[in-house]
Amino acid sequence: MNKIDWNFNNTYLKLPKDMLSEQKPESVKNPELIILNYNLSEDLDINFKGLDSKYLASVFSGNLLPDGSEAISMAYAGHQFGNFTILGDGRAITIGEHFNQRKQGYEIQFKGSGKTKFSRNGDGKAAIGPMLREYIISEAMYYLNIPTTRSLAVIKTGEKVKRETELDGAILTRVATSHIRVGTFQYFAFKKDETSLKNLVNYTVNKHFPSLKNEKNIYLNLIGELIDKQIDLIVNWMRVGFIHGVMNTDNMALSGETIDYGPCAFMDIYDPKTVFSSIDHFGRYAYYNQPTIAKWNLARFAECLIPFLDKDKNKAIELATNKINEFDNKYEKKWLKMMGEKLGFISQEKSDEVLILDLLQWMHINKADYTNTFCNLTYENIINDEIFHMDEFVNWKERWKKRLSEDKNIQKSKDLMKASNPVIIPRNYLVEEALKYAEDGNLDKIKHLLKILSNPYKMQSSITSYQMPPKQSKIPYKTYCGT
Ligand code: AMP
Ligand code: MG
Repeated sequence: MNKIDWNFNNTYLKLPKDMLSEQKPESVKNPELIILNYNLSEDLDINFKGLDSKYLASVFSGNLLPDGSEAISMAYAGHQFGNFTILGDGRAITIGEHFNQRKQGYEIQFKGSGKTKFSRNGDGKAAIGPMLREYIISEAMYYLNIPTTRSLAVIKTGEKVKRETELDGAILTRVATSHIRVGTFQYFAFKKDETSLKNLVNYTVNKHFPSLKNEKNIYLNLIGELIDKQIDLIVNWMRVGFIHGVMNTDNMALSGETIDYGPCAFMDIYDPKTVFSSIDHFGRYAYYNQPTIAKWNLARFAECLIPFLDKDKNKAIELATNKINEFDNKYEKKWLKMMGEKLGFISQEKSDEVLILDLLQWMHINKADYTNTFCNLTYENIINDEIFHMDEFVNWKERWKKRLSEDKNIQKSKDLMKASNPVIIPRNYLVEEALKYAEDGNLDKIKHLLKILSNPYKMQSSITSYQMPPKQSKIPYKTYCGT
């Protein structure tokens, strides 16, 4: 029989033993393949063609573990909404690390395949809606050119999971370059286990920051590199209006990939205070607060490395603090560059910031759609909402055009704008609608939505209905964790 040609070489087994627990997925009753990511399979150099769906369902449910699989779950800790907790993979099991022909490694992980050593009070299971939602949004992020874990498959287990009501159980196969989090470092720092911390640093540097291997102060440089990586990520989120929703330190990956698609969502109307998560009562993870929280998380990371920064503890703290304080300037610069590019600026002028802030303020006051405002500028009035005829906006546009003309290369400016401003984002109401159909067994809408989301920077007349902001609702959109 044909099989998936996995090429497992599970380097995660080199991680400190204390953070790994052998853990086989629970077998499920009646696995049914719901969706499979052929595009991702090509990047992985695995071939799904000619494989029957029963076989695929048994592989992606964990009922049939492939040869070479060494299934584990990982320990980690984390600050959840600011409070330190010992956590771990409560419903995730990594079955192997696959290497493609370019020798790039990808951890293949099931989410929702039963209890682990770290499940605490949870059932280790997942429901179909949230797993398909992660599939859609992570794929959308990938095509928006934002670093992210990806989704290879979703299967239905044929079993029910108990939430507020009984829901169909499901398993998502998540693919990540690694699942090392800030919280993984916190786990060993909490235990004051410096040997394991060092091993973890070495593994992480080898995998994600190989250029640091020969640096003198590898630890301080690692903090610096992680700051850069996270700034790039957050700036990208801000660019497209993405709100992660649960930026706990256990959800910040050392790879710089967006990880853990729980209560995340995209902003429609521009409001910096936008929060979707039902449990984020104080707006800790609001849109505008994401850089501040990233810095806070990075400071927690730096704390873990204090013992290695200098023999003198005070000196070590000073070094870490100075490094972390580089965040603000670096972020500000990269954010300004990104916003400038959204407006087509090739050069950077001092006065650009005022122009950018004036636009954002106008959007905020007038409840303009974030994505569509930039589309209106990029594609010259193609999004013909009444709001864009307002005097204030027309006047702002005159100032902007004057500034653009200073760069003297309108074609290059347009190209920059087209590459920075998506036409299509996974709008919450469209995602919800597609999920509703899927939960009733009809996958057509999800498949169509995924196709549209796979080309987010191309303006086409056929996608107009996917560009529409939601009808104003009196009930704000809410998202939920860990379902
Ligand atoms: P998250 O909000 O997804 O980052 O999850 C926080 C922690 O809760 C992680 O350690 C998860 O593994 C764990 N968790 C979430 N859902 C479940 C579940 N259904 N069963 C067991 N653990 C869970
Ligand atoms: Mg998590």
